[in-house]
This record gives sequence, structure tokens and C-alpha cells, in this order.
Amino acid sequence: MASADPATRLAELQREAAACNACPLHEGRTNSVFGAGSSRARLMFVGEAPGYHEDRLGEPFVGQAGKLLDKLLASIGLKRGDVYIANVLKCRPPNNRDPQTAEIEKCRGFLEQQIGLISPAIVCTLGNFSTRLLSGQPHGISRVHGRPQAMPGSDIRLYPVYHPAAALYTPANLKVLEEDFSRLAGILEANHQAKVEPSPKVDAAPAANPQVAVESTDGDAAAGGDGTGTAPAGEGMPGGEQLGLF
Ligand code: SF4
Repeated sequence: MASADPATRLAELQREAAACNACPLHEGRTNSVFGAGSSRARLMFVGEAPGYHEDRLGEPFVGQAGKLLDKLLASIGLKRGDVYIANVLKCRPPNNRDPQTAEIEKCRGFLEQQIGLISPAIVCTLGNFSTRLLSGQPHGISRVHGRPQAMPGSDIRLYPVYHPAAALYTPANLKVLEEDFSRLAGILEANHQAKVEPSPKVDAAPAANPQVAVESTDGDAAAGGDGTGTAPAGEGMPGGEQLGLF
């Protein structure tokens, strides 16, 4: 039976994801990777899918991309416990390949419920897959990164940035990611002020096809998520283009 308490309900959903066999990815998982962080977070990160290390440990963003995310969080005065981190998919695709449309459709309900329960002010999407899913728009991350936009059907702001894995091996992407993160602090502060004062509207036109049913709570929470884990040497870490990160 569903609980009204977000943290309790998230824990219930985590158990459901651990037992989920709705798509073939359950066959290869060591652990599902549901998400981690504060159920009251104002900032939530949504990556792509668990990678090698995440699958082993059942935790989001624990590989090299996770270390970079920690560094980026620290650069704006935050740590993991201040945010919530999740992924579009909860189980690792083989060899870190791109998520497939059918897998996303089967799994998206978990993410939608996470967002609804946490009710963050801002969802920072990491890379193409989460950005396209939550914006309902086809635009690639290289076009929309660093530009806040409305999440269809809600008053949550989406803030797309490059996936940290895309910045690990490409200094130019790292610079862009760092710059986008530096603006995130200001966006969070502006959002906080907006809650204190009369609420402003988001600055971008809503997408045409709302895809995420976000249940509004009183939410002043922040969330965060996982991303593509970096495979160990020999595991065949694909390049950024293969991951659909650009
Ligand atoms: S990826 Fe999602 S839908 Fe597929 S088995 Fe894992 S939890 Fe279920």
C-alpha cells in the first residue's frame, strides 16, 4: 500500500525496481540502481543508466563520472546528501550501450514517481536521454545545455547539462559543464527567492507533449541522480557519441 511519506514511498519503489522484470535488462543486472539522496531535495539530477560500477554497488554515479559530479557539486557548495540523483533506466544496459526506446518506456514510471514524490524545484538533466525524455523535445544536449526550460505539465524547471561522462575525456565539454554548473547555483537561488516572493513563471515555452506526470507537493526539496557509469579498462567504455551524450 502506498505511503504518503515521500521517503517511505521512495523506499517502496526502490524495492519494486529491485524486483522488476518489465524489460530484458533485468536479466543482466547485478543490482538495480534506483537513486540516492535527499527525498526533500530542491535539486534533482537525472542521468542515463547505471554503468559497470553502479551495477556492482547498486548506487548511482560511483565511477569516474560520479567523481566528477561530486566535484561539480562541491564547486557550488553542495554535496550528494543535499540533492537526489537518479537515472532514466534503473538497470545497466549491456556494455553501457544506449538505452532503447522500449526500455525507457518500461522504466520511465519509476522516474516519474521519483520526481513526483521528491517534487524538486529544479531537475538537472545530464545528457541527451534524460533531457529528451523530460522535456518532451527532440533537441540534443549540445543545443539546449545551460538553458533553463519548463518541464511540461509542472512548475519544475529543467536545466539540461552535459553528462559528466561526456566531459571526462573532452576538455572542451568539461569547460562547458563547469560553466553550466556555475550558473546552476544562481538558478537555485533565484528559485528560492521566487518561493519567498510571488512566484515568477519559467522563462521558456512549455513543450508540446507533456510526458511526465508530476504530482505537486509543497516541495522545497532537491534531488539528484546517477549517470552512465564508467566501465573499467577492458569493459569497453563507449565514446560519448555512442552513449548519445552529445
Ligand atoms: S530497466 Fe527498469 S523496466 Fe527494465 S527491468 Fe530494470 S527497473 Fe524494470
